[in-house]
Amino acid sequence: MSAITLSLKDGDAVSVAAGTTVQEALSQLLSNKQRKRCVAAYAGETVVDLLTPLTEDTVLTPIQVGTDEGLEVLRHSTAHVMAHAVRDLFGDDVKVAIGPAIADGFYYDFLRDEPFTPEDFEKIENRMAEIVARNLPFERLEMSSNEAVAAFGDQGEKYKVELIEDLGVDQVSLYSIGGFRDLCRGPHVPNTSFIKAFKLLRVAGAYWRGDEKNDVLQRIYGTAFFDAKALKKYLNALEEAKKRDHRKLGKELELFTMEDQIGPGLILWQPKGAQLRRLIEDYWKDEHYRHGYELLYTPHIARQDLWKTSGHLDFYSENMYSAMDIDDVQYQLKPMNCPFHIGVYKSSKRSYREFPIRWAELGTVYRYERAGALHGLLRVRGFTQDDAHIFCRPDQLEEEIFHILDLNLRILKTFGFDSYDIYLSTRPEKSVGTDENWEAATTALKLALEKKNLDYMIDPGEGVFYGPKIDIKIKDQLHRSWQCSTIQVDFNLPERFKMSFVGSDNTEHQPIMIHRALMGSLERFIGVLIEHYAGAFPLWFAPVQARILNITDDQAEYGEAVYEQLRLAGIRVEKDLRNEKLNYKIREAQVKKIPYMLIVGDKEKEAGTVAVRLRTGKNLPPMSVADFIELVQKEVAAGRGY
Ligand SMILES: [Zn+2]
Ligand SMILES: [Zn+2]
Repeated sequence: MSAITLSLKDGDAVSVAAGTTVQEALSQLLSNKQRKRCVAAYAGETVVDLLTPLTEDTVLTPIQVGTDEGLEVLRHSTAHVMAHAVRDLFGDDVKVAIGPAIADGFYYDFLRDEPFTPEDFEKIENRMAEIVARNLPFERLEMSSNEAVAAFGDQGEKYKVELIEDLGVDQVSLYSIGGFRDLCRGPHVPNTSFIKAFKLLRVAGAYWRGDEKNDVLQRIYGTAFFDAKALKKYLNALEEAKKRDHRKLGKELELFTMEDQIGPGLILWQPKGAQLRRLIEDYWKDEHYRHGYELLYTPHIARQDLWKTSGHLDFYSENMYSAMDIDDVQYQLKPMNCPFHIGVYKSSKRSYREFPIRWAELGTVYRYERAGALHGLLRVRGFTQDDAHIFCRPDQLEEEIFHILDLNLRILKTFGFDSYDIYLSTRPEKSVGTDENWEAATTALKLALEKKNLDYMIDPGEGVFYGPKIDIKIKDQLHRSWQCSTIQVDFNLPERFKMSFVGSDNTEHQPIMIHRALMGSLERFIGVLIEHYAGAFPLWFAPVQARILNITDDQAEYGEAVYEQLRLAGIRVEKDLRNEKLNYKIREAQVKKIPYMLIVGDKEKEAGTVAVRLRTGKNLPPMSVADFIELVQKEVAAGRGY
């Protein structure tokens, strides 16, 4: 048998007989301890199982426990074990479809008439544990497609048959664990002993191949880790995320609602939510004026011709709602604010002396989203962008980007976000604009980021067709990432709308246009804020800052007087002067996450003070009403930044 050379990327190599498996090679190339941590490997660029025999010179890169790739192999392997368990338990009543690894775990789709119940989950998990305990190998089998179609056909596994037929290849690979065979490319962990910590999480409906015309399947989601500790940590985080779910808190705190009769993805802000939003908007507007912006208001609809000129009808129509006829002219709801700001720009002749022009608008737009994609405040059909457009000369671009970044990070920080990932997206294949312009704009974005001392990653080719962009993803308390801010240079619209300005040379030039949104949309941003703070908002934008609670009816009148005093001082205050037990009233205020509870008993009434209790349960020493007002004002100013 001929000899082949197997090597590691960093140099170590062994000469072995052809047909040596990856595992055997790795046991010569790695220490015992390291080899035991391998779950699969790259042979060159291809991922392979440890039991794959090698027939030519190969560079091996082990995939180990503790890496993302290792976890993916483990999770996909766990999906096979789950399918095995489900087939064991429910026999021919289920058909298996597909079961890949996903971001936080895995899923498997099944066809079954009966819905899977929590009791079923328990049974499945127990059966999985039994399979795992048998320490079964994952065996790879190669067979002709005809053979495989026949085998799966015999078992009535119609989805597998369809998959193989669609592959259109002569040979397919299957994996077998304890006799349960599944169509699969691999790779898998060598045996089930790696599967130590797993949990089934939930079941949801899914169409076969994502097509609404196909069978509805039941998708069981689960997750797996290499050890029980990591699984526990993940499950705790999941529990915490559930508690913070903005849809649940939105209801409890009476912030927003949606009504069937009004339509999916359309938000109704309740008084508390409207107050929250008003506070955010006021702050946003103040900051913009302080940073040299002017505000605009523009309509919600425009003639269809506008959307033709802007290009939206050609490139964006599937996101736009149908036209409406007004006096024989077609109008459409706006999916974006940009053309309106251009309209304001074009209302007079512009000179370089006015530049930069910075116009901002809390502009409400409407975009079509599939009903299935809608999600609370995060994915909606009507939303308000914190939009702005900057018009400037090419030589002002870098400075303007720097200025935007400055305001952007300041606003995010004020709301409590100081950890983020920044991406710079460069020219995509399909794009408009000259090489020169792209080059200059991309360089300006880079220089501005560097001048601001920001780390960023390049997303090659992921720019918009009309220009390069910067995206900022913020991280919340649970270290989850949320896409919020975007800053985009645009060479397209100024051209389409024939925009111009008179330069210092007295001739006409085309301005540069920058689109930017810092929070993204108010809906989405508030959704993220709710989850970030678990509804316990900082004092400066808490819809209710204080609630007055009396101990007995004797202090009702005094409570009323304190309430009036605070209200007139501009504090967002409520009163709970009902004849109820104090503890009960405290609990209710705590559920509503109100920052300050002001308790008034006989002592306070006598001294003209309030006893202050925080939502954390901590108590402050009693203080005069005037002192409390000052405390609130100071805390608000500190939170808001001025
Ligand atoms: Zn597989
Ligand atoms: Zn825009």
